[in-house]
Amino acid sequence: MIRSKNMASQNLRTPGPTPLPATVREALARDMIAHRGPEFAAVLGECLSGLQWGFQTQHDIVILTASGSGGLESLIPNTLSPNEPLLAVSIGYFGDRLASIARTYGVDVLPLRFDDGQAADPSTIAQKLEERPDIHTVFVTHNETSTGVLNPLPEIARAVRDVRPDVLLLVDGISSVGSVAVQPEAWGLDVLVAGSQKGWMVPPGLAFVAISPRAWERNKQAKLPRMYFDWQPHKKAAGEGSTPWTPAVSLFYALQEGLKLMREEGLERIFARHQRVGRHTRQLLTDLGLRLLADPRFASPTVTTAYVPAGVDAKALLRQVHERHDVVLAGGQGRLDGQIVRIGHLGRVEEDELTRAVRALQVELQAATGANRPAA
Ligand SMILES: *Cc1c(COP(=O)(O)O)cnc(C)c1O
Repeated sequence: MIRSKNMASQNLRTPGPTPLPATVREALARDMIAHRGPEFAAVLGECLSGLQWGFQTQHDIVILTASGSGGLESLIPNTLSPNEPLLAVSIGYFGDRLASIARTYGVDVLPLRFDDGQAADPSTIAQKLEERPDIHTVFVTHNETSTGVLNPLPEIARAVRDVRPDVLLLVDGISSVGSVAVQPEAWGLDVLVAGSQKGWMVPPGLAFVAISPRAWERNKQAKLPRMYFDWQPHKKAAGEGSTPWTPAVSLFYALQEGLKLMREEGLERIFARHQRVGRHTRQLLTDLGLRLLADPRFASPTVTTAYVPAGVDAKALLRQVHERHDVVLAGGQGRLDGQIVRIGHLGRVEEDELTRAVRALQVELQAATGANRPAA
C-alpha cells in the first residue's frame, strides 16, 4: 500500500480529480445547513451565477449531485425520445461512453468515430447530417481526456449549423469548461456539461449542465423516462433557492470557494495559464524523446498524452513514479490501456509542478530502459 508521508506534497497530476487549494479544503469542513433554508439559497445563488460566469453564458445552469457521467447521462432522457437517432461523434473513450449511455436508453445511436489522437472533422459531421435529414441531435466531446485532444468546437458547431440550423448540439465540456474558453451562445451550443473535479478545484460529485432555450423546448417533447436527472424540477427549485433532492451541500461550499479563487485570477488569465502549462508539458515530454499521441494542431491545454516506449511496462512505470516520487499520473483507458501515460494540468497548476512530475517520469523511464546504466 502506498502511504504518502505528507499528503499535501503529493503531486497529483491526473486529469481529475485535481488538487484542492487550502481555502477549498477549509470550506469543506464547515458544518451543515438546511438545504431548504435561506443560507443554502444564498450559496446556491452564488454558485449558479459564478458558473454562468465560468461558462461565459446566460443560459440556465442546473447543478446535479452526480459525477460528470451523471451530467452526461442527463443529456439523453432530457432531449431524446425512444428510437430517436443521435449522431454520436467520438474521438475517444469518453465520447464512446456517451454513445453507450444513449444505447442503454434505447436511442438509435449513429456512431461517428475518429482515430485516437485525432480531432473530429467538421466536414465529415456535416456530410453525415446531409445524408440523414432525420437526425435532429448531435453529440460531441469538447476536450477528449483519454487522448488529450481539444476538438475544434467552434468549427464543428458552425459546420453543423450551416447544414441544419435547427439541430440540437450536446457537448461534453467536462475537462474543458472553466479551463478553456467556451462561448455557448456565440458558437450555438445547446447543452454543455462540466464536472466539479476538473478545472474548478472542487472534489468529485457535482455535474454542471448549461441549457439553451432551444434545449428547453426540446426538453418538453423528450419522451424517454427521467426522474433524478430531470432538468425541470431543478429549474423550478432553483427559482425557490433550492434543489429538488438533497444536494451535496459541502461540495457547494467548495464550489463557492473555487469560484472565488477563479474570479480573483480572471478567466482570460486562467485560459492563458492552461495554454502555457500545456505547451510546457508537451515540450518536456518531447525533450524526453517520447512520442505524443495528440495531433499537435489540436493538443489539449488540460491533459497531455504520450506513448510509453516499446518494451516498457506502463503500469509498472506509473507505480514506480507514484511510490518513489509521490507523483500520480494516469494511464491509458480502453484500447490505449498499457500504451500511454496521461498527465493532467488543469485547475490550480503552474509549470514547475509539471517540471517536477516529468522529472520523476524521466528517472523511472531511465531505470526501466537501463538508459542510466554505464555501457558494458
Ligand atoms: C472526467 C470526464 C468524464 C467523466 O466524468 P466522471 O466525473 O468521472 O463521471 C467524462 N468526459 C470527460 C471529457 C471527462 O474528462
